[in-house]
Amino acid sequence: MNMHQRRTCARLVLSLVLGATIAATAAPAHAAAPIQGGQAPGYYRIMVGTIEVTALSDGTIDFPMDTLLVGETPDAIRAAYKKAFQRLPAESSMNQFLVNTGSRLVLVDAGAGTVFGPTLGNTVASLRAAGYTPEQVDEVVITHMHADHTGGLAHDGQRTFPNAVLRIARADLDFWMNPANEAKSPEGVRPSFAVAREALAPYIASGKLEPFDGATQIVPGVRAIPAPGHTPGHTYFAVESNGEKLLAWGDVVHAAALQFAHPSVRIAWDSDDGAAEAAREKAFADAAAKGYIVAGAHLPFPGLGHVALAGDGKGYVFLPVTYSADRKPVALAK
Ligand SMILES: [Zn+2]
Repeated sequence: MNMHQRRTCARLVLSLVLGATIAATAAPAHAAAPIQGGQAPGYYRIMVGTIEVTALSDGTIDFPMDTLLVGETPDAIRAAYKKAFQRLPAESSMNQFLVNTGSRLVLVDAGAGTVFGPTLGNTVASLRAAGYTPEQVDEVVITHMHADHTGGLAHDGQRTFPNAVLRIARADLDFWMNPANEAKSPEGVRPSFAVAREALAPYIASGKLEPFDGATQIVPGVRAIPAPGHTPGHTYFAVESNGEKLLAWGDVVHAAALQFAHPSVRIAWDSDDGAAEAAREKAFADAAAKGYIVAGAHLPFPGLGHVALAGDGKGYVFLPVTYSADRKPVALAK
């Protein structure tokens, strides 16, 4: 190697070393972008005819489904969750639905408030993110009086929705506001009594609680349909406009991974096991036959989709709505 070749070689080695050094120092700068965490604001809209329905996320809660579900062995439940690529305890959504008919704003369920800790209680934040304020809500309707649906009605003894009338089926009010039922109820639902008393108190004090009996029109376009079983006054709310329909069906399903395929599987805290199972079978069959959108409190957020018969004719499948970027009507029935 002559002098010139040695210099060229030295420069090449130097540039390689420098290049490697630059690469080594530059690479961490990209990798060091902090992981952000969190999710997008918890709302999603669809149109039902001329009515806008906004799903609002209260957050999620871990349910130990292998000990909460009844009707399958814990091993079979674990196998079903594994098959569905879901871990246990199952991270379960808590969804509310804000219905804007154009003249009235109706909120279906109020979320958990502070009752179940920081992973729930985001309904008001989701509602604000969606462009509304709690003061604008005209009616709050409750599918049933379990704490995850009523806890968000009040905070520090004040109404969360100060201008709203609170509408609840009398059958649920009579049950959950009667202390005699508290001691007789399964441990898992016992806290719902105290939560209900506390959450309803400011509405009762201000004359804003209006019970309803049986099938009732809440506002034009929104009607209550009794569906007892999960609780004595468990209620669906149907939203209908221009031939399109959405059914907010409360707690028909807690475990989508299992209960669509096996509607007889139920959750430990049903008030009336047989009636809850019958209501679920009927809800699946009706939704599959008529093709309307169902909106579930514990279906994966936004909790909106169709029910169809399973391919083998046994059981059902849930088909979540496809994402729409511009609120196109997606509540078309068959
Ligand atoms: Zn619930």
